Amino acid sequence: MGHLAPFLRLASALSSHNCKVTLITPRPTVSASESRNISALLSAFPHIRPIEFRIPHYDALGADPFYAHNEAMRASAHGLLLSSLSPPPSAIVIDISLASAFIPVSKKLNLRAFVFFSSSATMLSLFAYYPRVIGTARAHCAHHLDIPGLPPFPRSSVPPVLDDPDNLFTRQFIENGRALVDAEGIVLNTFEALEGVALAALNGGRVVPGLPPVTAVGPLEPFAGGGLCARVREWLDRQPARSVVYVSFGSRAAMSEAQIEQLGIGLERSGCGYVWVVKTKAVDREERAEEAVEVREKGVVVREWVEQEAILAHEAVALFVSHCGWNSVTEAALRGVRVLAWPLGMDQMSNAGTIERCGLGKWRGWGGGGDGEVVVGGEEIGEVVREMVAEGGGAGAGVGVGWARVGEEARRAVGVGGSSYAGLVGLIEE
Ligand code: UDP
Ligand code: UDP
Repeated sequence: MGHLAPFLRLASALSSHNCKVTLITPRPTVSASESRNISALLSAFPHIRPIEFRIPHYDALGADPFYAHNEAMRASAHGLLLSSLSPPPSAIVIDISLASAFIPVSKKLNLRAFVFFSSSATMLSLFAYYPRVIGTARAHCAHHLDIPGLPPFPRSSVPPVLDDPDNLFTRQFIENGRALVDAEGIVLNTFEALEGVALAALNGGRVVPGLPPVTAVGPLEPFAGGGLCARVREWLDRQPARSVVYVSFGSRAAMSEAQIEQLGIGLERSGCGYVWVVKTKAVDREERAEEAVEVREKGVVVREWVEQEAILAHEAVALFVSHCGWNSVTEAALRGVRVLAWPLGMDQMSNAGTIERCGLGKWRGWGGGGDGEVVVGGEEIGEVVREMVAEGGGAGAGVGVGWARVGEEARRAVGVGGSSYAGLVGLIEE
C-alpha cells in the first residue's frame, strides 16, 4: 500500500489536470486492500482507463510475498503492449520498484519514462548514492554515510537488509537505483518546505551526477475514498477537539504480542481517548476480522483497514503514533497532526529523523527495527502520549507551532501557485 496509495493519488491528480490517464495494474494483487483501493479510484475517476496486466503465479515460498510478486511483475515487463491505446500515450510513470525492468521496455515503445519514488527525497538520495559505494569503505563507515549535499545519514537508519547482497529486496534496490539515470525524470511525494536541502542536492547533481530532474509534487492529496466506518466516526464525533491519539503502524508492520500488550496498557494509562489499529499479520488477505471494531470506554480498537486520511482529518485527533511510513508522514503533514515516531525498519528511521528536524513530531528512540528490539513499557508509553496530547491539543496547537506550521506549508505547496502545484503542472507541460 505504501507504493500503491501515492501512485493512485498521482493518477487522480493527473486526471484532475485533464491528462488522459491509463492505469496499468498487476493481476492478481497480493492483498485485499490493494484491489479495494484500485476499484475506489476507478469509480471516483471514470475517465481513467484501467489495463489489467496479467502476471504469472509467483512462488512466494519463504520470500516476502510483496517482493516475490514484484519480481514476477519485473520478469513480465516484456509483455507490456500499449499498441491498442488511442491516442497513443506520450509518457509512462513507473513505480521505483519496477524501474530497471520497465525503463528499457518503455524506451522500445517510444515512451518517455518517468519514475515515481514513493518515499522521501532523503531516501531517494540514499537510493541513488548507495549502489555506487556498496562494498566500499564509504558504505561501511561506523556512524554515518556522507551523501554529498545532505546532512550526515546515520548508519543506523540505513535498512540493515542492504548489507545482505543476496536478499531479493537488496538486489532490486541496487538494480533500480542504478537505472535511475536512464529515466527522463523522477517524481516525489514531498515538498520544498519539508525537504528543500535534499531536493537541491539531488537537482544540483551533487548526490549522483547525471541524475534526471527530480520534481516534488506532494503531499499528494487523497481522492474521495470509501469514507470512515460509521462506528469509528460516531465515536470520534463525540470526543473533544484535539484530544484523541490515533495509533497505526501502516499496512505492513505487525508488532510482537508483548509489545502490543504494553501498547494497550500505555494507551489506557495515558488517560486520552484513542483509535488504535491493531495489526498482527503483514498481509491482509481476509476481508473482515471477526470483531473488526471494538468500542471500549476510552477508545476504539480496529482490526481491519481504516480510512487513515479521514481519521487524520478529524478535528478530535491531536497526535498520531506512527511507524513513519512515508505516506503516513505526508498525510500527517497535510493535516498538521503531530507525530510520535515509532519506526520499525526500512525507510522509517530516516523518516523519523526528518519529522524531528522539521518540527512535525518527536522520536523518543522507540523502535528502530532489527532483532533484539526492546519492548517499550506501558507506563512510559502512557506518560509520553499524555504529555504530547496535552501539548498538541487545545490551545497548544497554535498557528506557527512546529506541526501546525508544517501543515500550513504543506497546504500552501499543493495549493494553486504553490511549489508542488507548479511541479505537477510543469511535468504535465513537459
Ligand atoms: N492505510 C490506511 N489504513 C490502514 C493502514 C494503512 O489507510 O489501516 C494507508 C495509509 O494512510 C497510507 C498507506 O496505507 O496511505 C500506508 O503507507 P505508509 O507509507 O504509511 O506505510 P507502509 O504500509 O508502506 O509501511
Ligand atoms: N524501495 C525501492 N525500491 C524497491 C523496493 C523498495 O526504492 O525495489 C523503497 C521504497 O520506496 C521505500 C523503501 O524502499 O523507500 C521501503 O520499501 P517498501 O515500501 O517496499 O517497504 P514497506 O515499508 O512497504 O515494508
